[in-house]
Amino acid sequence: MALSPRYFIPMNESVFDPQAQLGNPDLKIVASLERLSEGFRVLLWDKAKVLGISPIQIQILIFIQFHGDQKCKISYLAQEFCLTKPTVSEAVKSLEQKGFVERRTEVSDSRSHTIHLTESGKAVVAQTANFANPMLDSMVEIPSAEKGVLLEQLLGVVGQLQSAGIISMQRMCFSCRFYQKNGDGHYCQFLNQSLKNRELRLDCGEFEAA
Ligand code: SF4
Repeated sequence: MALSPRYFIPMNESVFDPQAQLGNPDLKIVASLERLSEGFRVLLWDKAKVLGISPIQIQILIFIQFHGDQKCKISYLAQEFCLTKPTVSEAVKSLEQKGFVERRTEVSDSRSHTIHLTESGKAVVAQTANFANPMLDSMVEIPSAEKGVLLEQLLGVVGQLQSAGIISMQRMCFSCRFYQKNGDGHYCQFLNQSLKNRELRLDCGEFEAA
């Protein structure tokens, strides 16, 4: 794959400077990603305001709903959301007091706890897990083949952010020990099959860190 040209960006320039953005797609792409993150923040806050719980508490509830016990621990959640353990502990304590989660002691280690949704917690997830769905409307106009390319490129950006230590380990193909580059394509040694770019995974249950 041919590498795109790198545009020179002086250290004192900002990606948010409209003049600097002219003729520099790198800056415009990064600034666009920031706009997207703003969209997620607004949508999440809309749910949080209605329910009277914080955005991070909603994110923790949604994460617990879709991930197994080994990932539903304070230390894992802190890593997942790039927060300190005391911050996550406080958020979980608040969720416990509201009756949305409960802690269970692990059978194999009485000092270790996993966090589980209560029925009330599941009801909150049912109301909030779709918070990002309005974003899906913007996908309709993108041709199917281009979606695969876009996904591949975005996962590459996520991988670079992870390598730079800006975000935590992502359970995705490019960070996985089962992943192999296969010519211009991709191969999963766990599934024993080639992956089209649109089949690459961002949050895979079979992921193991490379
Ligand atoms: S196990 Fe999952 S994350 Fe790993 S390469 Fe296969 S599909 Fe990708």
